[in-house]
Order: sequence, then structure tokens, then C-alpha cells
Amino acid sequence: MDHTKINLLVRLQHLDNQIENIISLQKGLPEEITALEEDLAFTKRQIEARKKIADDHLKLRQKLNETINDCRNKIRIFKEKQTLARNNKEYDALSKQIEYEEKEIAQADIQLQDIAHAEQRTQEIQQKGRHLIAENRYDEMTEEMMPDDILLQQLEDLTKQVDHKKEELNSIVIETADEVDALNKKIDLQRDTIIKEAKRLLDKYDHLRSGILQNAVVKLNRNACSGCNTRVPTNRHTMIVQGGFYLCESCGRIVVHERLFDEAAD
Ligand SMILES: [Zn+2]
Repeated sequence: MDHTKINLLVRLQHLDNQIENIISLQKGLPEEITALEEDLAFTKRQIEARKKIADDHLKLRQKLNETINDCRNKIRIFKEKQTLARNNKEYDALSKQIEYEEKEIAQADIQLQDIAHAEQRTQEIQQKGRHLIAENRYDEMTEEMMPDDILLQQLEDLTKQVDHKKEELNSIVIETADEVDALNKKIDLQRDTIIKEAKRLLDKYDHLRSGILQNAVVKLNRNACSGCNTRVPTNRHTMIVQGGFYLCESCGRIVVHERLFDEAAD
């Protein structure tokens, strides 16, 4: 058997392992940041939705108050005119106009009360949320129960956390950028060599690594495949010790003697 081919592949695995080690330095930070950003976006949407309702209420309230003022002014004018009315017909016509304005005021008042009630309900629901938080009963909370001030605090906390984690990740990425760059170049060169020398082995390697598995080539450890701990048949040990490889019957990984990894690291 031509052992140099497997040596080339072990070298590739060694380089891929090094990249993997560097990525593991990021300690799941990218995933954590994504999750935090989702929480942050959700919180922002909630705050915006509440602000929209508050703005709409404010605008409507202003409009209704203006309407009421207008109506009152008209009523005042109509009443003045009534004192000058020359006959009953004129007086009654003005009375009807006053009546109409009074109805307008009553309708506006009802709408103002509706707004006040809605706002009161919101406050009551948030008050309930505040009690639940105080009692640690978060599982009983609904979105609308979250008090405004706590929601804003949450936004601030999440923003800080995301910034902090991003900084942390960024510094790791910057620190390791040169190393990753150099490793990627070595990997490209190594792959070019293997394609020429042992394409089928490389295909096997890539196929094994196409799933979640990173270590396609593993060491023989205590006479077992160190990828899945399945024992390697005794009659294959000699071949492995001599620098050959064995395809694990259980997981399909390529099992080699650990010496080959030591050589690949040199
Ligand atoms: Zn195995």
C-alpha cells in the first residue's frame, strides 16, 4: 500500500482541525449574537407598536378637543343670536343648531372616554404583569403585560449585550485573522496536491465531512476508532501501525496511527 497518500490526507485533517480549533475560540458567540439580535428586534417592534398606539391616541384626543371647542364657540354664538331673534321661527332654528352642536360634543366625549378606558385597561394589564414579575411568574406573562418601563430597560440591556458580544467576537476574529488566512492557503495547497495524488481519498474525506462530522480522519486509540469508540479488528492493527489506514465499520471514519498526526504536525 502507498502510505504517502494517507499521510497527505492526515496533513489535511491536521490543518482543518487547526481551523476548527480557532473557530471554537469564538465559543458560540456568533450563535449567541444572532439569538440576542432576534430578541432585540422583537423588543423594538413591541415598543414601536406601543408608541404608535400612544401617538394615535394623542392625535385623536387633540382632534376631539378641538371639535368640542369649536362646538362650544358655535353654541355661544347661536345663543347670542337667540337673544336677538326677531321671531319664534328664527329662535327655533337656532335651537336646532345648538342641539346639533351639543350632540357633536356628546359624541366626542364618548370617544374621549373610550380612549381613557383603553389607556386605563393597558395600565391595569401592565400592573398585573408587574405583580407576576415580582412573584417570578414569567410563564404566565403575555406580551402586553410587560410594563413599558421594563420593556425599555430590556431594550437597553439587550443593546448593551449585543454590542459587548460583538466586540468580543470581533477582537477574536481580528486576532486570529492572519492565522486563519495562512491556514486556508495551506489547506488549498494541500487539497491541490491530494487531488492529483489521491482523489478518491479526498472524495471520501469530503463526503465524511459534508455532514456535521468534522474529523474524518481519526487516531487509533486503545485499539478503537477514536471517532466512535468502536473496536478495530486485531488483524488490522498491524496495517495501521505500519502507517496504513482502516475504514471504521461503524462510523466510516478513516482510522490511522497517532504517529501520522504527529508527523503531520511537524
Ligand atoms: Zn468509528
